[in-house]
Amino acid sequence: MSEPTAIVGVLALQGDVREHEAAFGELGVPTRRVRRPEDLDGLSGVVFPGGESTTLSLLVDSSGLFDPLHKRIAEGLPVFGTCAGIILLARQVEGGRADQRSFGVLDCTVRRNGYGPQRFSFEGEVTPTGPELGGEDAAPLPAVFIRAPLVVAVGEGVDVLAREGRGTGGAPVVLRDGKVLGATFHPELTTDRRLHALFAQMVKSECRTALW
Ligand code: GLN
Repeated sequence: MSEPTAIVGVLALQGDVREHEAAFGELGVPTRRVRRPEDLDGLSGVVFPGGESTTLSLLVDSSGLFDPLHKRIAEGLPVFGTCAGIILLARQVEGGRADQRSFGVLDCTVRRNGYGPQRFSFEGEVTPTGPELGGEDAAPLPAVFIRAPLVVAVGEGVDVLAREGRGTGGAPVVLRDGKVLGATFHPELTTDRRLHALFAQMVKSECRTALW
């Protein structure tokens, strides 16, 4: 019997789930919505979409997903969080609700709504600063920041893969620590697929049943 192909889970409790599904669909990467602990069975990676981290935190708890997800990530399940998703991954969250939980698997401090309230949401560009996104000569990525978190500290051992704006002087906006990838913006809302392709590659390198 052939083994089932690798599947990437998309946490589907709130937020821009469909946009992530579409982005992976363009790359030929199959996805499954994750709403309950059973949905984690057999996954080869998981994505935390943008949305509202306070709400996501409550729903991850009430759905019974927090502990099983935490365990799978601690065991090495690759994970990719965008905007609210990176807040769920961060070790330290400033400006969160007192009861807000995060998985604490990405050694950084993020400040919720760190660029300001909704009227300071913006579309711009981010500059690759590491080879994973094509190196420093690579074209900037378009980026949509919606009440985005601001990364205010990055732990040792965490790679900064891109910075906000043109050039290398902006705030870190894409972080990676091994199998944990986070972006403070929404790559799923633009047509540039470099970040989804990078995550697909991270999943593939862990999983010999990946067909893409
Ligand atoms: N400000 C939101 C939060 O704290 C994140 C916004 C987003 O994901 N677009 O969760």
